[in-house]
Amino acid sequence: MAHPQTYIAYRFEKAGAPLTRAELPWTEPKEGEVVVKVLATGICASDSLVQGGGLLGGFPRVPGHEVVGDVAAVHPSVKDFKVGQRVGAGWQRGFCGKCKNCVSGKRMGCAELFQHGTGCTHDGGLAQYMVVPTSGICHMPQDMDPAESAPLLCAGLTIYKAMTHNKVPEGSLVAVHGVGGLGHLAIQYSKAMGYRTVAISSSSSKKELSLRLGADVYIDESTQDAVEELQKLGGADMIVSTAPTSAGAWKMLGGLAFEGKLVVVSLPTDVAPLSPSMLCAKRLTITGDLIGDADDCAETIAFSNKHGIKPTVEKFPLEKANEAFDHRPKAFFRAVVLPWA
Ligand SMILES: [Zn+2]
Ligand SMILES: [Zn+2]
Repeated sequence: MAHPQTYIAYRFEKAGAPLTRAELPWTEPKEGEVVVKVLATGICASDSLVQGGGLLGGFPRVPGHEVVGDVAAVHPSVKDFKVGQRVGAGWQRGFCGKCKNCVSGKRMGCAELFQHGTGCTHDGGLAQYMVVPTSGICHMPQDMDPAESAPLLCAGLTIYKAMTHNKVPEGSLVAVHGVGGLGHLAIQYSKAMGYRTVAISSSSSKKELSLRLGADVYIDESTQDAVEELQKLGGADMIVSTAPTSAGAWKMLGGLAFEGKLVVVSLPTDVAPLSPSMLCAKRLTITGDLIGDADDCAETIAFSNKHGIKPTVEKFPLEKANEAFDHRPKAFFRAVVLPWA
């Protein structure tokens, strides 16, 4: 496939700096790598962590770890991917392969997990092209819209894996706390997994949307006590917490049924007190989850495609990358950049 000598990327030149347009030279893929022509990249809250320099990586750095595109070049060593194939890339692009967790197949527990992040330790997809190892990509169906599938490689992946790792019997009561970028996907996954689904939000504004996405019951926390309402329904067997604060997450423990699970998928940075004794009487479990590897991405995409699960997105051209980045917290629900729009 013919390729240009240079391409446009948006990157952070230094910690705290806004995105800056850069013209980068075409780079041939090295052993085990491909070059992806990026069709869509989702903007994620963790891109702000990259911008702040709080993660491993260094600068300048092209962010973007929710990437869908077509393979534009492959190194001769690559056999699983061919030029022209549609692929998706999430955050995790590699592992040490030697630590206890890698050896036992639990790669997401890799001791060097954070040293292999697309858009963090290596340049990501906020660009027309991206170089990535095949360990960081999965095949994507051609019939999925790139913009609507890119956020599934991070937000969707996190929810899908959190819910499959903590599977409860079909027909169980599952509550989704918070209807935003993660929550609106969690409602859809919950419904597709065969659960009675409760959506909980802080106002009435998300009611119609939540019911349309598959919620059976909607709890408006501005007028109702979510814990009481869940207990009226018999208690939730699983609560997927997307609450932005620790106190908001812990509060929901009261809404669980006997042996219920609180699954935290947001990353609250505050600290709130919690008495472990409240776990004992009802044998409760608190757990959490975060992204996955390329195989997990493939599984998430297959499930999402089968059940028609998609995020609502707002699209931006690459030249408006900064606008997309700034819009992210207000997006309904995910801001996605289309480098070739
Ligand atoms: Zn993300
Ligand atoms: Zn490892």
